[in-house]
Amino acid sequence: MKILIVEDEGRMGSFVEKALTEQSYSAKLVSTAAKASDALADEPFDAIVLDLGLPDGDGLDLLRDWRKSGFNEPVLILSARDAVEDRIRGLNLGADDYLPKPFSIDELVARVRSLLRRQAGVKATVLSHRGIRVDLLSRAITREGQPVSLTSREFALLELFLLNPSRVLTRTSIAEKVWHASYDLETNLIDVYIRRLRKKLEHPGEPQLIRTVRGSGYQLV
Ligand code: CA
Repeated sequence: MKILIVEDEGRMGSFVEKALTEQSYSAKLVSTAAKASDALADEPFDAIVLDLGLPDGDGLDLLRDWRKSGFNEPVLILSARDAVEDRIRGLNLGADDYLPKPFSIDELVARVRSLLRRQAGVKATVLSHRGIRVDLLSRAITREGQPVSLTSREFALLELFLLNPSRVLTRTSIAEKVWHASYDLETNLIDVYIRRLRKKLEHPGEPQLIRTVRGSGYQLV
């Protein structure tokens, strides 16, 4: 899952970026309205965290332009302006959520996660597939009732598959969503992670859970 952070205060931006990266999201941080528009035009994002007071413009104007141009990515507004009118204006312009500064980083992460779930059309906080059950809030994973321990990157990969059941996910889209877009596709890192997930989730003699689609990518079956 890839998140664009638009925030001009360096420390605040890095703080948010670090928190989201720790949750295995891919985060791209930009500090101006112009860079934000460029980033959004360049590559797809799953969600946007948007500060309102930017050096070269107002986040609300940016949001209005995006929505007019048909960008539907969920937007979480992050702003020191906590006046009710600003909040309402933001939501009217198409923001999906609003978090006044100062905020707790845990709350920010929880709200981003909730935006991503809504975007994926998944209302449930528990995803399940063929005996695998993933609680997105507690991050607990079980297979046939037995706990499974995954690293945060493995978790992000499994979450991506569960949110896109039976869809063929290309290595590029997996790299974009689970790793930073700059990830070097020449390496076989994705294949290594897929093998690890299979080892932890598939049992010998049972049908495969993650299928390799030759020349395309991987598919949860
Ligand atoms: Ca600002």
